[in-house]
Amino acid sequence: MTNTDCWIPIPENSDFSIHNIPFGIFSDSNSTKRIGVAIGDHIIDLSKVAKTGVFDKLNIDNRIFTNEFLNPFIDLGKSITTQVRTIIQKELTNESSILNKESVFVAIHKSSVMMHMPVFVGDYTDFYSSIEHATNIGKMFRDPENALLPNWRHIPVGYHGRASSIVLSGVNVRRPMGQTLPMGETQPVFGPSQRIDFELEMAYIIGKKTELGDTVSTANAEKYIFGKVLFNDWSARDIQKWEYVPLGPFLAKNFASSISPWIVTMEALEPFRVESPKQEPKVLPYLSFSGMRNFDISLEVALKPDKGVETIISRSNFKYMYWNMSQQIAHHTINGCNLNVGDMLGSGTISGKSEDSYGSMIELSWGGQKTIKLDGGEERKFINDLDTVIMRGFCEKGQIRVGFGEVSTKLLPAKRN
Ligand code: MN
Repeated sequence: MTNTDCWIPIPENSDFSIHNIPFGIFSDSNSTKRIGVAIGDHIIDLSKVAKTGVFDKLNIDNRIFTNEFLNPFIDLGKSITTQVRTIIQKELTNESSILNKESVFVAIHKSSVMMHMPVFVGDYTDFYSSIEHATNIGKMFRDPENALLPNWRHIPVGYHGRASSIVLSGVNVRRPMGQTLPMGETQPVFGPSQRIDFELEMAYIIGKKTELGDTVSTANAEKYIFGKVLFNDWSARDIQKWEYVPLGPFLAKNFASSISPWIVTMEALEPFRVESPKQEPKVLPYLSFSGMRNFDISLEVALKPDKGVETIISRSNFKYMYWNMSQQIAHHTINGCNLNVGDMLGSGTISGKSEDSYGSMIELSWGGQKTIKLDGGEERKFINDLDTVIMRGFCEKGQIRVGFGEVSTKLLPAKRN
């Protein structure tokens, strides 16, 4: 199976190849939200595909494809969702498919649709699983000699975030107001955050619920993941610095997090498995795992000033993650905490070893000590009003390319009362 077998033209280097088939929620002029898959520059409307009868053998209620969110579809389980994906791949590479005959009916160009939040996110957890990122932050905020806290190599450190403020790519985010302690002062002040930052992350969507009290082993954890999206976990570093002791991030993090619209399934990511970084010291038995649990996903961050050109300011990779998704799920459920379909779990900022692979401005500018030069001549230490931050991600192996598209967000000025 190759892109050229597909009867819908797929542009060279498209993220949405025949090997991908990611799921999303879209609407067009008739405004009803429904489930689609992306192929090249087109969206295949699954509510219309279902009417052709190609899903009949699955014995599902076809009304599930006309839906505000993917949650009920995902809840059908991988036994169904993986078949929907392979049926679509088969039909798209078969010239005589009924979908080809009905192509005007089932395929819509991306320029005439609007994307929406793919899932209803009930709960959101963010980890802190990149050793390079945790080390950089530890050096800056605490102790250059002992950057990692004693628990870091033993626990996939995380915190519960706020699901209500997760927004889709394209939705503008406003600079938050808040309380900060200016350098050298003893009393806090109130005003717009002066240190707005992005966090280059990936998030995964839980595809199978657990009951309260259940635990999930590292061996079974991936069965609970439906797929992944790009994730920009917006952060206000000055608010964070003042508020985070003793309970961790609060208002510095919950004003917005942005996601890409297409959920790339775990099945599509299968060819891109790689070995995990060596964990030293050895982890406790419930966190040990076997097999290749990291994924080679190239990531980049671009910054585009208002009316300016974009500059790529970081290139990283999801494979650098010290703690993998299986370990995160095993840890998250080890106390019996339950997971629901649609829950979103963030990786934490994904930084690499080299300075041009850091996943946040606070690392790239080393706490504001360095400036980042942009192609248009401007300089940045943090994000300015009207800047757009764009994150992209893709996997490549031989002729197979599977990508995530992008999450692109413009920062608006603070709203002063
Ligand atoms: Mn984060």
